[in-house]
Amino acid sequence: MRRYLYRCTLCCTTSPMCFGTAELDAQSNHHRAAVHSGHYPDGERSGAVDRTGRWYADMGPLTTLHSLLADAFADLRDPTGQGLRLWAWALSWLTLSTAGLLTVWVSGVVLSL
Ligand SMILES: [Zn+2]
Repeated sequence: MRRYLYRCTLCCTTSPMCFGTAELDAQSNHHRAAVHSGHYPDGERSGAVDRTGRWYADMGPLTTLHSLLADAFADLRDPTGQGLRLWAWALSWLTLSTAGLLTVWVSGVVLSL
């Protein structure tokens, strides 16, 4: 399940976790209408975040992939949960490490032929 946040840098507030873009739009529109008379505050931000609230846009590609995998594993048991699940985090790193080592091994076999 994808998670989204809306952040208003003028008010220094962040929306509750949203579980869809429609919910995110409702949160951001409500904040703009209630606090900023419908205007768009400078520096506002909205986008997808992981279970711990980190913005995917701020992560590097490997960290994003790891976080997406860890969230997917953790969502199998708790689809709307938040926070770090250590077992999912470790399983994600194990999956990425195995894929990397398998790639190196297959490359070595192919190059040695
Ligand atoms: Zn605001």
